[in-house]
Amino acid sequence: MRAINVSEIREAVMKMCMDMNYYIGADIQNAFEHNLEKEESPIGKAILLDLIENAKIAGEKQVPICQDTGMIVAFVEVGQEVMLTGGGISDAINEGIRKGYGEGYLRKSVVTDPLLRQNSKDNTPGVIYYDIVDGDQVKIKLAAKGFGSENMSRSKMLKPSDGIDGVEAFVVETVSLAGPNPCPPIVVGVGIGGTIDKAAQIAKKALMRDLDSVSRYEHIRALEERLLEQINALGIGPQGLGGSTTALGVNVEIYPTHIAGLPVVVNINCHASRHLETVI
Ligand code: SF4
Repeated sequence: MRAINVSEIREAVMKMCMDMNYYIGADIQNAFEHNLEKEESPIGKAILLDLIENAKIAGEKQVPICQDTGMIVAFVEVGQEVMLTGGGISDAINEGIRKGYGEGYLRKSVVTDPLLRQNSKDNTPGVIYYDIVDGDQVKIKLAAKGFGSENMSRSKMLKPSDGIDGVEAFVVETVSLAGPNPCPPIVVGVGIGGTIDKAAQIAKKALMRDLDSVSRYEHIRALEERLLEQINALGIGPQGLGGSTTALGVNVEIYPTHIAGLPVVVNINCHASRHLETVI
C-alpha cells in the first residue's frame, strides 16, 4: 500500500482551480489558431482574434479567462493500493476548491440549494465522481464548468432503431437550438449508452478529453468527424454572429446499454473550456 495524505490532494485541487481559470489549454489555443486560418467570416475572424487576445491577457495578468469561473466537476481515479490518510478525500477536494477560489479571487457561483438559491460563498461543493482502479496513484481530472453552455445541454432516450442517424440528428439539433447561448465556438461532449445518468456522466467525461485526442473506436472517430462537419455547417459561428467556427471539436464516449434503449446526452462546453489533470 502507498500512503497519500489528503493534504496533497487539497493542494493539487487548489492549484488546478486557479491555473485552469487563468491559462487556456493548449488544445483550445491551437484550435483557435487553426480555425482562424479557415474562418471566412470577417466578424468570425475578428472574434477568434479577440478570444486569442483575451486568453493571452488572462495568462499574463493571472485573471480569469471568463467572469463565469464555473462549477467544479471532478473525476477522481483512486488506485486500490492507495491508503488515504489525514482525513476524507471529498472534504480535501472541497477544501481545495474553497482555497483555490478564495485565494485566486475567482467568482463564487455555487448555490447550496437549487431552489432556495443561497450562495455557498466559496464555490463548494464540487460535483465529484470516483472510480476505483488498479495501481497506487490518485488521478484527478478537474473542470471549471460554465453554465451558459451547461444550460444548453439535452438528453433523450432514443429507440435502438433510431441508430446512429438518430444520434447525429439529435446532436446537431441540440447545437442548432443552442445558437449563440453557449458562447461559441463550443466543444460538444456526447455520451451514448448506459442508463440516462451514465450517458450524462460520460458526456461530461467526453468534455475532459483534449481536442487532439481521438476515440479508440473507428466508428466513433468517424461519427465525431461527421458531427463536427455538420455542426460547423450550421453557420452559427464565433459568439453566434455567423461563420464556420461553431465548434472546435466533438468528443463522443460510449458505454454498453440495454437491448431496449439508446440513451444519448449532449453536454456543451463554451470556448472557455477549462480542464486539467494531475496524478499524485
Ligand atoms: S458559458 Fe463559458 S464563456 Fe460563456 S459566460 Fe459561461 S464560462 Fe464564460
